[in-house]
Amino acid sequence: MSKIKIMSENLANKIAAGEVVEKCASVVKELVENSIDAHSDSIKIDLQEGGLKEIKITDNGVGMESEDALLSFQRHATSKLTREDDLFFINTLGFRGEALPSIASVSEVDLITCASNVGTHIHIKGGKLEINEPSDARKGTIISVSNLFFNTPARLKYLKSEQYELANTVSFIEKLALSYPNIKFELTNNDKTLVKTSGSGNLLKTIHEIYGLNVSSKMIEVKGSTDDYDMEGYICKPEILKSNRNHMITIVNGRVVKNNDLNRAINDAYYTYKPDIKFPIVVLKFETDPTLIDVNIHPTKQDIKLSKVNELYNMIVNTIKNKLYKELLIPNAIKDEVTEISIPTTMIKNEIVEEKASNFEKETKENNYQTELDFSIAENSEIYSTNTQDTIINPELKKLVLYPVGLALGTYIIAQNEEGVYLIDQHAAQERINYDKYLKALKEEEISTIAPLFPINIELNAGDYLTIKGHMNILTDMGFVIEEFGLNTYIIKEHPTWLKRGYEEESIHKIFDSIISIGNRFDRVKFNEHLAITLACKMSIKANTRISTEAQEEILNELVNTDNPYNCPHGRPTIIKFSIYDLEKMFKRAMN
Ligand code: ZN
Ligand code: ZN
Repeated sequence: MSKIKIMSENLANKIAAGEVVEKCASVVKELVENSIDAHSDSIKIDLQEGGLKEIKITDNGVGMESEDALLSFQRHATSKLTREDDLFFINTLGFRGEALPSIASVSEVDLITCASNVGTHIHIKGGKLEINEPSDARKGTIISVSNLFFNTPARLKYLKSEQYELANTVSFIEKLALSYPNIKFELTNNDKTLVKTSGSGNLLKTIHEIYGLNVSSKMIEVKGSTDDYDMEGYICKPEILKSNRNHMITIVNGRVVKNNDLNRAINDAYYTYKPDIKFPIVVLKFETDPTLIDVNIHPTKQDIKLSKVNELYNMIVNTIKNKLYKELLIPNAIKDEVTEISIPTTMIKNEIVEEKASNFEKETKENNYQTELDFSIAENSEIYSTNTQDTIINPELKKLVLYPVGLALGTYIIAQNEEGVYLIDQHAAQERINYDKYLKALKEEEISTIAPLFPINIELNAGDYLTIKGHMNILTDMGFVIEEFGLNTYIIKEHPTWLKRGYEEESIHKIFDSIISIGNRFDRVKFNEHLAITLACKMSIKANTRISTEAQEEILNELVNTDNPYNCPHGRPTIIKFSIYDLEKMFKRAMN
């Protein structure tokens, strides 16, 4: 009877297959999740030609009795389906009953499974049951899917190249291994091992097994919680950033998810520790009451919707920021292995260009207001103001004393202490110092202002003039007293005292530019940050400027007292260290 049923449902299965199975990785996902549901602690995935030819999963889970095995290929027949509503939070990963029948309808499936003394062997081709017989007893399940979409040429076209399909599957298995450190995973392609984890149960060890020592040795453990969420996991030091978001891995209640709120929080937490176009490696696990999660209805999407997001956002940002602040993050000049350079060269070029530009109006990409910045988080503004040095102190950092030795190339301060030699980019370092000062001044409640000796006239084009007029409250809040003066001109009667002396007019131009570039979506926090960066960059000493030893000393002392002495506000490093050991190694004073 089962046989007939499977055949009659074949068409529906083929249709459903198009929705559920898009690529080899989605087949792997279905099968591996079944293995996890079956309580396997060892799962081996063997691919041939990236899965295009064959996908074979071997697990040591509970296996299936003969009846259940056959039933699993029937649409809407699995026990999982009854739990579809609450699929996300009960202890099952499978999302709906039709996955396996769908896969079987468009490929050749061979299943050997055993739950007790007698095993079962089932072979289905294009949805037709060809073999159903007893087999050897071996705990667990071996399932292979070959010739995917052999009977649906239209779908077959959508499969990509071996490399593409493989890359997707590797990425999926890596993430799964990180969410299940207690399960041993092995993934091979054409008999070559690509991913292998030990199932040790230790997340850091799993990170090591997937990313290697160079990454795992630069991970920092974090823990945090709100009333509703518990978070734990690892974040990376800013020296090992990636150029895409794929390595920001978030796991909610055991399931890898893609969630914009979580990604934004993580990214914001690294603000100024990294350039905007670089992303950290993090593996963060969240536990929460299942009722706070909404699962996206589309089964292949990993997206979910979270409730009580604001508290969660603040917790993530504060936890990560505090952790980064407490670590000593000075990167060693000597790397153990070749690593991805954390700053793109185009970005460095931009800042160098900007430094050399004498023309005040000359804008660089780095310096332009990042309009893609998310302005929708005004309600989270308080996090930045509460997260200052007053609340967190890094004693090691405060103890860090650097003694200037001299200036190299008119650009790098050479310094030393008992641990080694340091190179400090004088512009980047001063930019960080100034950034902190400007940001503090901009946040100040009490504003002291001064009337310039000669009134400052700012002439604009009509459009900019009107934009400024529309945002006059921002300027008033900052302490400016401004009057309209003739055609498209403002006259500055008073301005805040923190404008750098001698550069008042230039600073005001920069402030106007910042206001003009924000458009309608004004966020005070983001605006202050942007303005502080712009002014700090402009007002800091440029490269190729000779400065006195006293000036060097001042920079070094002030730098260690900033919120983040390791990076300029654009995310560029300020300081690089050559440890005594590195030097001895290079000069062969130390042999190992
Ligand atoms: Zn700069
Ligand atoms: Zn910079």
